[in-house]
Amino acid sequence: MTPKKRKTEQKAHKLIYDSGEEGHLQSELWKILDITNREASRIVKKFMEKGSIRRERVLNNGRWTYRIFPLKESVSLDSIEGCPCLVCPNVDKCFRGGKNDPTKCMNLTAWVDPRIKPLTINNI
Ligand code: SF4
Repeated sequence: MTPKKRKTEQKAHKLIYDSGEEGHLQSELWKILDITNREASRIVKKFMEKGSIRRERVLNNGRWTYRIFPLKESVSLDSIEGCPCLVCPNVDKCFRGGKNDPTKCMNLTAWVDPRIKPLTINNI
């Protein structure tokens, strides 16, 4: 696959996933991506084979088209933003029962429950 095709697929993927439950009209999607119907069909077929989208036939302005919906949740790192383990110098030595134990770590606990005061990174 050429870098240009890969980039187009990535853009299509993002547009479909960002549309959420509302979905995206296939005919509009390809205009946004500025690609041909043939290229569009190839991308849709690929996504459907992967099980990442579903299509629903809909009537739009008197013409039949498809509305495309994402089937899988888009992966986001938002849920781990600010997690102290991401920058912890002891992450490779941290395990249950060890000197650095995630079940006893005040920094991790404070991240999970902001009412608890965290320690400084040097105190881990
Ligand atoms: S010591 Fe705490 S902050 Fe560091 S990796 Fe373990 S649980 Fe995460």
